[in-house]
Amino acid sequence: MIVSSALIENAVNEFAKLPGIGKKTALRLVLHLLKQETPQVEQFGEVITRMRRQIKFCKQCHNVSDDDVCNICASHTRNQKLVCVVESIRDVIAIENTQQFNGAYHVLGGIISPIDGIGPDQLNIHTLVERVQQHGVEEVIMAVSPTIEGDTTIYYLSKKLKDLPVKVTTIARGIAFGGELEYADEMTLARSLTNRLPLENYLQNK
Ligand SMILES: [Zn+2]
Repeated sequence: MIVSSALIENAVNEFAKLPGIGKKTALRLVLHLLKQETPQVEQFGEVITRMRRQIKFCKQCHNVSDDDVCNICASHTRNQKLVCVVESIRDVIAIENTQQFNGAYHVLGGIISPIDGIGPDQLNIHTLVERVQQHGVEEVIMAVSPTIEGDTTIYYLSKKLKDLPVKVTTIARGIAFGGELEYADEMTLARSLTNRLPLENYLQNK
């Protein structure tokens, strides 16, 4: 892309690094910013910078948070003994949007995938085991993708939890439940949480 300004070109290149943004869209966004008043653009930059600098990850569940402990873990009206295990923060947002789940979460930060070099040690697994041991968690719901990696992760976690006094369940997987959690529509996702199954039933059907 030939632009008569290196400043513009640099900005376009930065926008084009974002997922789903090609060079043309990047240019459109940059030119849009150029039309704004300077303070507005400064605020845009500051909000992004502040978000990245100040964001915290909850000490308990690893969800994004403005404080050391997130507002879900800190809530007295939520069932802290019911913990839904998910791969990523996006899954927390997807489930929260259903407004049907009143428990807490545990964000693994990924999924066991030897091909990508991701083993159990790179995930937030030991904090989950500790949490179950120390906080009297009564039920752990596995809400990870129905893929080989997801199943490997479920199997690994179930072995880690098997000697602890905790019920382990998985979300129900209907036909409509095609892929990752965030793509499931809210109704399907809410239903699959409500109709969760004991883990043994899930593993038996494999
Ligand atoms: Zn938390």
